[in-house]
This record gives sequence, structure tokens and C-alpha cells, in this order.
Amino acid sequence: MDMHTKLTPHFTLNELIRSSTASELSIDNTPPQSVLSNLLLLCTHILEPVREHFGRPVRINSGYRSLALNTAIHGSKTSQHMSGQAVDFEIDGIANYDLAVWISENLSFDQLILENYVSGGDPNSGWVHCSLLDDVDRNRMQTLTIHGKNKQIGLIK
Ligand SMILES: [Zn+2]
Repeated sequence: MDMHTKLTPHFTLNELIRSSTASELSIDNTPPQSVLSNLLLLCTHILEPVREHFGRPVRINSGYRSLALNTAIHGSKTSQHMSGQAVDFEIDGIANYDLAVWISENLSFDQLILENYVSGGDPNSGWVHCSLLDDVDRNRMQTLTIHGKNKQIGLIK
């Protein structure tokens, strides 16, 4: 599997699977085939439209997580990252709140979470988590704002 393979014009497979924790702990984060098709869906329906709209590079913090990696970072046991159906990202110079709002108004998704964004603070604080199901009719279009252990419905500035 060539890590430099482009899944879509602006996103490589490597960007969706790399992890500093996996490297440090020598965890194999190579995705199975079923995950690849989900990552491709995320690139096509979420990441490319975001790249196109904002016209700037999208920085991917975390895409696919193998069970071992998800366990190592104490991720949720039901994390959609483990099936390649979720991605965490941000864009330098764009407030994560604005990024999340644009997605909520323009794209289809399962769950969209504004995570650890500090209103009135650093606009680049936090990140956006977005998931997408392969069965598009089942997407919940659910928006949440999460700060540490505090979870609220909707996107809250
Ligand atoms: Zn996430």
C-alpha cells in the first residue's frame, strides 16, 4: 500500500492514517480495505468540499485509528475513527466554530462535533470532528459542542 497514494486530489492516504502516537508506540495503523472506502467517502464528501470552499489546506489531526491506536489514546470504545468514518481537522486562520457552522449548513454528515474550541480566545483553538456513514440515508446530521467532559447539543460559540 503506497502511503503517498492520493485518495482525492488534495488528500493522501498517509494524511488520513498517520499518527505520532502510533509511530512512537510502533502501532500498526494500516487500514483494512473496508476502511479505505470509508476514508475515500470522507475525502470526497467532507474534506474536498471544505478545501474547495475555504481555498486553504486542511490540516488533518486524526483520521483512521486501529483498535490498538484508539486504545492507546483512550478513545471512545465506539469511536467512528476505528472504521475510518470520522476525521478530526482544522484550517489555519479559520476559526473552528466558523468551519463547523459552514459544514453544518452545507454538507451531509452523521455527527459534527466542535471540540475544545475556546470562544473569544484563540480562533484556532480546538478542532472539528466530522463523521459520515456509508449508508447516506442513515446520517443523523447531529451537531455537538464538546469541552473536556462537557457535552452540549448544537454548535455553541
Ligand atoms: Zn474525532
